[in-house]
Amino acid sequence: MRVLVTGGAGYIGSTVARQLVETGDDVIVLDNLSQGHRAAVPDDAAFVHGDLNDRGLIDRTLAEHRPEAIMHFASHTLVGESMEEPFLYLDENVRCGMNLMKSAVEHDVDRFILSSTANLFGTPERIPIDEDVTVDPGSPYGESKFILERTLHWLDETEDLSYAALRYFNAAGAAGPNQGEDHAPETHLIPIVLEVALGQRDKIVIFGDDYDTPDGTCVRDYVHVLDLAQAHVLALNALDDGSRVYNLGNGKGYSVREVIETARRVTGHEIPAEEGAPRPGDPPVLIASSDKIREELGWAPEHSALDDIIGSAWEWHRRHPNGYDGLQ
Ligand code: UDP
Repeated sequence: MRVLVTGGAGYIGSTVARQLVETGDDVIVLDNLSQGHRAAVPDDAAFVHGDLNDRGLIDRTLAEHRPEAIMHFASHTLVGESMEEPFLYLDENVRCGMNLMKSAVEHDVDRFILSSTANLFGTPERIPIDEDVTVDPGSPYGESKFILERTLHWLDETEDLSYAALRYFNAAGAAGPNQGEDHAPETHLIPIVLEVALGQRDKIVIFGDDYDTPDGTCVRDYVHVLDLAQAHVLALNALDDGSRVYNLGNGKGYSVREVIETARRVTGHEIPAEEGAPRPGDPPVLIASSDKIREELGWAPEHSALDDIIGSAWEWHRRHPNGYDGLQ
């Protein structure tokens, strides 16, 4: 299949793009490189440097490459940032997604996969969170993804577009020793902890230690980026049987303190930690139930043990302390 991957130079998008290339699909990556890295794009993928604010560019890309499916990763993705700059999310994330969907409809692309988020569930009524839990976004980021999910729902009704919304819990780990997470600035727990292990930072600040959780720190469900990528391939192949929404996690939660402890053990470094204020928009516990995708598509995460996640990320960070800088 010919697949357009927006954000295919980013952490998750590039991992999925590579898996698609490896399974024989033709991949076109569209990325503005604001957060992604040209070196992360697989060699065998076509690359279009451009921005989803530019409707004309999207139309030209679809006319030239005529993809049969779109996977949409390009997005602002930070809960904390969205609490400070809501319009980056409620305006730009939504508008860019809408631009892409409008072009998809005009160019008869009728398969669409949306990268969505666990932040749809700000205050979940039960844990683990299955797809029937009421959506109540925890931040403008989560809200922006929900608006796009609902738009896809209506495009399925009105335009016969089949979609999958894949709600990731905490994507983590490295796809390989030369392919990993590289954000500037970095805000995610595991890479920051590993930067402390590498001596690039003095300490990790724990955002809140008075949550209603076993050790007072937030509990998250970390899922390996390779397992997420596999879910995209499965979902794409299932779209001909109709649209679907899945929560993607490991089904097991770890507190911030447990992540730090595991990183100390895996890296052999001390990793100083200090308690700080909670981060606005952070729910205390997010753990997925992924029974639905396991049962319907046979998804089985293989790399998502916390030691494997941190071990693979450590390998990447150790070998590439400056991320993709210097990689071709
Ligand atoms: N966190 C932290 N210190 C940091 C970065 C993150 O304590 O420097 C916590 C954060 O509050 C959350 C968890 O680690 O509870 C995972 O955060 P991350 O930003 O990695 O992912 P998110 O859950 O926001 O998608």
